[in-house]
Amino acid sequence: MGRYLKAKCRLCRREGTKLFIKGARCNTEKCAFTKRPNPPGMRKGMMSKPSYYAMQLREKQKVKRFYGMLEKQFRRFFALAVRNKGVTGKVLLQLLERRLDNVVYRSLLANSRTQARQIIRHGFVFTKGKRVDIPSYFVSESQEIEIRPTEKMAKLIRANVENAQKERSVPTWMQVDHDNLKIKIVRFPEKDDIGVSIDEQLIVELYSK
Ligand code: SF4
Repeated sequence: MGRYLKAKCRLCRREGTKLFIKGARCNTEKCAFTKRPNPPGMRKGMMSKPSYYAMQLREKQKVKRFYGMLEKQFRRFFALAVRNKGVTGKVLLQLLERRLDNVVYRSLLANSRTQARQIIRHGFVFTKGKRVDIPSYFVSESQEIEIRPTEKMAKLIRANVENAQKERSVPTWMQVDHDNLKIKIVRFPEKDDIGVSIDEQLIVELYSK
C-alpha cells in the first residue's frame, strides 16, 4: 500500500476525530473536521450503524493514521507488541508513543508528526552522541535526545514551540529544555498520556483473526 496522497483532512472526517495531521491549522477554525465533522461523501442521515468488524477496522485505521503510518509498518508494530511481555493493546500504544517522530512532536519542537519526521530524516536529531535519522526509532526511559539544527531550522523550531505552547503542553513522561532543544524521557508513556480516545482491544481483535 502506497503513501496517502489525497487531502489529509478527509482522514479526520472519515475517522470521526481530529488526527492533528496538519500542524497549526488543526487548532484553528479552518480545521475541516470542525467545519464538517461528517464522513466525506455522507450526510448525517446517511450513516447507518456499523458492523463490529467495521468498528474494529475503523479503530485500527484511526490509530494508524493518527501516527501517520502505513499498513505494513503498523502490522510490524503489532507483531512487536505481541512478542513483548504485557497486555498486547497497551504495549502497542506504548510502542507507538515511543516512536522518535512522536517524541519530537509531543515535545512541541515540531508542529506535526509529518514535520517531526522531516526534522529527523534531515539529520538534525542526536541521541547518545549519534545522529538518528529513523522516525520509527524507539526511545527508552532516561534517554536524552538533542536537536542540532541549522540556523534556519532553529528559527522554525522556535516558532513551532511558541505556537504550540498556546495549544498543547509537553506530556509528563518527558522533560523538555526548549532553549537548548533537549528532551529527556522520564518514564514510558501510558494510554492516558495519548489524549485521544482509543479502544486498542478492537485492534487486537482485528489482527488476531
Ligand atoms: Fe484533521 Fe488537522 Fe485537517 Fe482538522 S485541520 S481536519 S485536525 S488534519
